[in-house]
Amino acid sequence: MKKNILIVEDNENTLNALQKEIQKYEGIGAFIASNYRDAIKLLRKERNNIHFAIIDLTLPDANEKQIVALTNSHHLPSIIFTGTSDAKMRDLVFNKEVIDYVLKENRKSVAYAIKRAYQFLKQHQRTLLIVDDSQLYRMAIKNAIAPLSITVMEAENGAEALKMIQNEANNISIAITDFNMPVMDGMELTMKIRALYNRDEFAVIAASTMDDREIIKKFLKIGINDFIFKPFENDEVLVKVQSALEVLDLFQETKDLANKDFLTGAYNRRYFFDVGDAIFAKNKRKKLPIAVAMIDIDHFKRINDIYGHDAGDFALKTVIEVLKDSLRKSDLFARFGGEEFALLLEEITCEDVQKVLEKIRSTFEAQRIVFDDATFSYTVSIGLAFGNFKTLEEALNLSDRALYQAKNNGRNQTVLNQSPNHPHGINVRLMSSEAGCVKEVF
Ligand code: GH3
Ligand code: MG
Ligand code: MG
Repeated sequence: MKKNILIVEDNENTLNALQKEIQKYEGIGAFIASNYRDAIKLLRKERNNIHFAIIDLTLPDANEKQIVALTNSHHLPSIIFTGTSDAKMRDLVFNKEVIDYVLKENRKSVAYAIKRAYQFLKQHQRTLLIVDDSQLYRMAIKNAIAPLSITVMEAENGAEALKMIQNEANNISIAITDFNMPVMDGMELTMKIRALYNRDEFAVIAASTMDDREIIKKFLKIGINDFIFKPFENDEVLVKVQSALEVLDLFQETKDLANKDFLTGAYNRRYFFDVGDAIFAKNKRKKLPIAVAMIDIDHFKRINDIYGHDAGDFALKTVIEVLKDSLRKSDLFARFGGEEFALLLEEITCEDVQKVLEKIRSTFEAQRIVFDDATFSYTVSIGLAFGNFKTLEEALNLSDRALYQAKNNGRNQTVLNQSPNHPHGINVRLMSSEAGCVKEVF
């Protein structure tokens, strides 16, 4: 089944470039909105056929917040495509539905954005298999789940179904199976499926008639996820398939979380939010302060420009070593964006976290990177938020603001943002490890 990306973009050149790029991929299409109003209309009409969004932040008829709120309210995973990386935009990317942001720099950014969308869609593609010897029932189930716009395949018996499932290209991860069928019945099919896949990888919903209660019991024992009594109501089928899919998605998500960032081996954003949310909640309950820091390499672009992209990649990998060496095992860090890393530290005082960050900052400063024939070094800017925050997102926002300030102050330094209740409150620039919690206020 075709997956569609909603593109909200008012610039015609960018729009053309995005559409051209999409054509390179099979199985994805696009809905185009050149302003906020059209986006609303399209979502109202086509939400079921839209699976992803790429959104421009500067639209003629809405501000950044409105357009992000719109895709967010539809629980639409999105990529922000933007011309600026200012603080205001960066606040928005801490939204959970936003999976990435891409700076509109050149054709490469267009290619990158579409590739990310494609990867995401591919990962979240599922096919449902209806197994029933009655064509009538197959039709009825198909009709019932039509609103899900999931790819559907059909098999007339267990043996046929198994063959289709074993063909990985079919990407089948959920089956609704009848019990009584020729060649191979639903029970045997379920057992064979369970020999291949666990319940977290493949969902089986058995369908049987009311007086088959014993059969249902047996089905449950061999590992079905749910069952449906025949005759059924469309709603019942829809809800049961939907929740089975949600469970599969949840498990998939858990696995995605475990998947670390490919290049550096660091945890990714999702992992940071999931584990971070739990750490955050625990400390909030205990009314303990936490520290959240954003680390961003200074003038990283220059490394790419002067020594090449591979050298840039190599430099990124060294970040992990430095962080691992300087942090405790219980500290959480993740690669957040290109050359940007987020840290979450608990059970630490404001003074101690500053010492840790100062050590990190100076380690980067002193580090010499040798790649091919080149030797180079780089510095980092760090934004730190320390205190009791309402949400993890708030802490991240504040640390990001502090980072922004560290950049503006000349880079290679840490700025502390200590005032959770006043987003524009006290900022402290740290110049040395001896610095107390409040040194230079501006
Ligand atoms: P600043 O000090 O203001 O942070 O400047 P900067 O150049 O470090 O920051 P900017 O955000 O302008 O540019 C970041 C660059 O990082 C642009 C992008 O091409 C590069 N980048 C992002 N991800 C990767 C990656 O995985 N590998 C490499 N080599 N470069 C990357
Ligand atoms: Mg940078
Ligand atoms: Mg950056």
